[in-house]
Amino acid sequence: MRIIDLRSDTVTLPTEEMRKAMANAEVGDDVYGEDPTVKKLEEKAAQIMGKEAGLFVPTGTMGNQIAVMTHTKRGDEIILEEKAHIFYYEVGGIAALSGVQARTLKGYYGALDPSEVEKSIRTGDIHEPRTSLICLENTHNKAGGTVIPLEIMKQIKEIGEKYNIPIHLDGARIFNAATALRVDVKEIAKYADSVMFCLSKGLCAPVGSMLVGTKEWIERARRNRKRLGGGMRQAGILAAAGLIALEKMPDRLKEDHENARFLAEGLKEIPGIKVDMASIQTNIVFMDYEETGLTPDSFIAGLKKRGIKVNPGYPLVRMVTHLGINRDDINYTLQAIKEIVQGG
Ligand SMILES: *Cc1c(COP(=O)(O)O)cnc(C)c1O
Repeated sequence: MRIIDLRSDTVTLPTEEMRKAMANAEVGDDVYGEDPTVKKLEEKAAQIMGKEAGLFVPTGTMGNQIAVMTHTKRGDEIILEEKAHIFYYEVGGIAALSGVQARTLKGYYGALDPSEVEKSIRTGDIHEPRTSLICLENTHNKAGGTVIPLEIMKQIKEIGEKYNIPIHLDGARIFNAATALRVDVKEIAKYADSVMFCLSKGLCAPVGSMLVGTKEWIERARRNRKRLGGGMRQAGILAAAGLIALEKMPDRLKEDHENARFLAEGLKEIPGIKVDMASIQTNIVFMDYEETGLTPDSFIAGLKKRGIKVNPGYPLVRMVTHLGINRDDINYTLQAIKEIVQGG
């Protein structure tokens, strides 16, 4: 059966070129600092993001958790958007691993209001925790892959500087944000002290994410990576794919964005399906099927029967475009959803 996997851009498979590079990678023990391919990837990631140093981490979640751990002390408070990945989808890691508490603020399409951020910073009163970090997410996953405007990032960075509070950017999909904004990723990364980004999503590497920041900060992050068990040995095998991901893949993300828009425009014409077109900015599409009257079971089962995999939910279903999805797959998906809605 034809399978159309729209669950996430994490389902992308490594390209032939990545597999060859992996097979031929020069490697060593990276915990001893002896893996040349990992070093090359870390340097390249830092250079692309306009930072001093980089750190290769197994997952985006570990990268974010290391960032929080490296920026904070136990009992601190960190400011996050209320649907931020770090708050919502990292298994309570900030509490369990770093012992910090979250101050969540409601965003507008994922973007924090700078004046709300400023008002939420603690004053130093003896009763209060210390605010030690502001986290941003660009693109914002749960808001629909929305892009945080650079002007907002700039204002929040200025607030951070005013109060001496660092900014961590969860830039899992920062290349999607840069593509949508038509800017170099540096123009986004410059408003953050540390950035995490994923090689394993739209960039198609099999495994891995990066942290970038100052040299001093990355050295401390490296110790925290080891503490969390993320010190990998001949990781150059993975870094080799990451290098190709960085060199070859960002330029094609615009195709994913065009496909997501095409999908969203088709969906909103189907009776009972609603799409908030303002949220369609990159490669993520949320559709609301409440008005079709279909139960989650029948809707998701109908999709499954036709080989279409989505991130299930009610009333929202998430679909993500990526290298494994072409225009024809989207036409097939739209036709299938029309049939399901019509009771076919
Ligand atoms: C996917 C994602 C992560 C985490 O990445 P994993 O590699 O799956 O752990 C972090 N933040 C955002 C916004 C993401 O979409």
